[in-house]
Amino acid sequence: MKSDRISARQFQADGSFAGRLQKLVREVVVPYQYGILNDSVSGAEKSHAVENIRLAARKNTGEDVPPEAFYGMIFQDSDVAKWIEAAAYTLIATGRDEALESEVDGIVDLYAASQHEDGYVNSYFTVKAPGREWTNLREAHELYCGGHMIEAAAAYYEATGKRKLLDVMCRFADCAYDEFMHRNTRGVPGHPEIELALMKLSRATGEKRYAALAKHFIDQRGQAPNYFVEEEKGRGWNVWQGSAELDTDYTQSTLPVREQKDAVGHAVRAVYLYTGMADVAKETGDETLLSACRALWESITRRRMYVTGGIGSTGIGEAFTVDYHLPNDTVYAETCASIGLMFFAKKMLENEHRGEYGDVMERAFYNTVLAGMQLDGTKFFYVNPLEVVPGISGVAVTHRDDLPERPGWYACACCPPNVARCVASLGVYAYSENETTLFADLFVGGTVETKKGLSLCCETQFPHGGAVKYTVSGAGEMTFAVRIPAWSKKAALNVNGEAVDLATAVKDGYAYLTRDWRDGDKVELSLDMAPRFVYADPKVAADSGKAAVQMGALVYCAEGADNGEVLPLSVDTSVPPQALPFDAALLGGVVPVEARGFRAEPAAALYSDEPPKQTPCAIRMIPYYAWANRGLHEMRVWLPAR
Ligand SMILES: [Zn+2]
Repeated sequence: MKSDRISARQFQADGSFAGRLQKLVREVVVPYQYGILNDSVSGAEKSHAVENIRLAARKNTGEDVPPEAFYGMIFQDSDVAKWIEAAAYTLIATGRDEALESEVDGIVDLYAASQHEDGYVNSYFTVKAPGREWTNLREAHELYCGGHMIEAAAAYYEATGKRKLLDVMCRFADCAYDEFMHRNTRGVPGHPEIELALMKLSRATGEKRYAALAKHFIDQRGQAPNYFVEEEKGRGWNVWQGSAELDTDYTQSTLPVREQKDAVGHAVRAVYLYTGMADVAKETGDETLLSACRALWESITRRRMYVTGGIGSTGIGEAFTVDYHLPNDTVYAETCASIGLMFFAKKMLENEHRGEYGDVMERAFYNTVLAGMQLDGTKFFYVNPLEVVPGISGVAVTHRDDLPERPGWYACACCPPNVARCVASLGVYAYSENETTLFADLFVGGTVETKKGLSLCCETQFPHGGAVKYTVSGAGEMTFAVRIPAWSKKAALNVNGEAVDLATAVKDGYAYLTRDWRDGDKVELSLDMAPRFVYADPKVAADSGKAAVQMGALVYCAEGADNGEVLPLSVDTSVPPQALPFDAALLGGVVPVEARGFRAEPAAALYSDEPPKQTPCAIRMIPYYAWANRGLHEMRVWLPAR
């Protein structure tokens, strides 16, 4: 059964977990990132992103701006775009704000002034490489930056009704349409993103040509001869380095998308592409495309995904590698990739409501995506390791990307503003609806207004508690479908105190409640939050003989701040881990978990004939998303099991 995500305007978070995160994004993250993008935060990696756009605007009006004045990545514009989108969603989530809007409007004015007459807009090409537009689609990210700015424009229009950025991006999309539907009809983006953005723009404006261009890019990708190989031959310039043999897997262009079975290459590109594919499949009813999406979904979630919902096992190409290769210490698991996995999961839900999509979206969000941001909102992980040893992590040549602490910013800063926009728009991931049904895909405290005029208020301590209570306002017939997570071994559901038989109500992971709802009706869901050990398929060599701990959707880790050295620890899996009382003062409020286990005594030599002596001990664990907030420590998700 198909559905649409709700609009951000239909959801208002309360003061519980997600609402507090959205408040943090509004009060800390958005102002902090605005400062970074405007180079007014000292001590952090330089951005120059807004200045690049200002320079492009000056050059566009005839001023002499030297090419070397541009600073940063070729996709530096996209940091600004994601920030605008985050700001827009906070205006919806936490209320209009003149000061914030004038900051956004200021950037929009610069960006509009930097737009060429034909609609093209990109600060890198305007300042640094004029005349080379559209000639290096593999590396140059023009369509990627454009896609992000389209998403920003749609969000800002939704938040404020202001059309200026939307009009700019429609002109850009028209320019791209002319280029790729009429002139360079074989060209496709090196970094997918604009496909999903064009689908959004098409919905925001009602303009079908934008959806047609998205479909065109998806249909063209991977057709022989490979566009990127052909493009490379005649070009004569590269952003990074030329390569005699291009890795077409890196850009998911080895095969036409409908023939792709394995998730390969750069992980963020992959999931952004698959999201676009799933969106086009939904709009066109293309079953072949949807079945390719299902195969790629299975490739990721059955064989290539970490327990934390991280994807991309290596920093070499920021990429997927092969099935069951999931190292915990040299992992990549880029924050953006898990955000993209949420996008893909949500778009699959909109095609067909199956609980596994919601389960994975939840896994990615509550573990890797949230770990991407320090609890105070000012530092960010790009790479999300599941095992960290200070002195090795971030230091050894193989572990350079796997930092033990979050930096304040990055030269390549895709992740921090991506987390901000994701958290600020969480409501749209929490619910979907169609003519008959409201689906609860995530458990997020707050109120959702349905298009049918009913509203539901959700009260919950999730992810730290498993009670979820919905109260109906208004009256009318509707089906309310609530996800029953696969991790909940026991679940109980009742309506106005009367138990629902889950054996008959649940289909594909959702419990369907169809009735003539009355004002004040209550739906209560109780999920099994007992902490439990989880084990990986033995094909995952890195996790062989190990166990991890999960409570509800949260993956836990053992960190040095609670345990001293973590490497000598092993868990006793014959004793179930125990939840300790909720500790409001710990890490912003968490439920610590305690497992029984052993600590190996220090060894006298690198190798010895005697096994280390083991002393029984308690092992304190915290949610993975909250790690690295108390200084430099060892950390492990997977512990040796005894
Ligand atoms: Zn990123």
